[in-house]
Amino acid sequence: MMPPYIEVKSILNKKKKRDSWFLDDYTINPYSACSFNCLFCYTQGSKWGTNMADKVSIKANALEILEKQLYLRSKKQQYGFIVMSSSTDPYLHFEKDTLLTRQMLELIHKYRFPVHIITRSDLITRDLDILKQIDRNSILPPDLQTKLNNKVLITFSFSTIEQSVATIFEPGATKIEARLQTLHTCLKEGFKSGVSLMPLLPFLSDTKEQLEKTFSLFGEMKINYILPASLTLFGNERGDGKWLMFRAIEKHYPHLMEKYKSYFDHSTHLPDFYNQAFYKKMKELCLKYRLKDRIV
Ligand code: SF4
Repeated sequence: MMPPYIEVKSILNKKKKRDSWFLDDYTINPYSACSFNCLFCYTQGSKWGTNMADKVSIKANALEILEKQLYLRSKKQQYGFIVMSSSTDPYLHFEKDTLLTRQMLELIHKYRFPVHIITRSDLITRDLDILKQIDRNSILPPDLQTKLNNKVLITFSFSTIEQSVATIFEPGATKIEARLQTLHTCLKEGFKSGVSLMPLLPFLSDTKEQLEKTFSLFGEMKINYILPASLTLFGNERGDGKWLMFRAIEKHYPHLMEKYKSYFDHSTHLPDFYNQAFYKKMKELCLKYRLKDRIV
């Protein structure tokens, strides 16, 4: 069933400061909420109930507003990377029918903006033709022109490379195998493509064995960058990310419940000792498998 349509006032959001990991000067979210429904997602919140997938809506007037906003920004030469997307996935299942992301990419190409796609879907392969044109014709912001040749960045997100774990924590996303295959296609087609491991799940995807398996896989694939991050969990209400994660851990990994509770009961972040060891380990693995931990 197609989600409902809503009207919005703005679609191209200007960031106050570009994020050094994602290089986002702007963000666009074609949809409100996200049907991939990852339990740990920061957009999960009590306002959506316990299933965010039921609350997705399509931004009906997005194209008309985007064209106006891109026209004004390009007139002032305010070029910069547009991240699609920051609080939804640009390739939700019904994108096959709405073509909203595709039509947005056509406008982005028309006004010559660079774009960074972040997705957990394989549907992006449909749009590689328009992405090629953007990569060829768009304009980088002046400070990135000496650091980067690419006007398209494609990042695939994973919290694990084990399908059995992904099925629990990223229930709506494209299967791991298909995501990996799509990443392979993007690399083969010459796109600057990498991976965000956001977030790695404590005791599930951050174990020594899993980290070796994950980094060696991406090292072999020769991805252009890898961006790992540790888990954060927000909110204490029913339906919030922390509540959803605790419920899933209790059901599927009850032996880990005490550990998750001790880490997150009174905090949104993992303890300092965990994070220090985590980021040290990530540096070591990047060196070992010759992976860059930044896009530029
Ligand atoms: S795909 Fe991204 S935006 Fe959607 S629920 Fe998962 S983490 Fe959140």
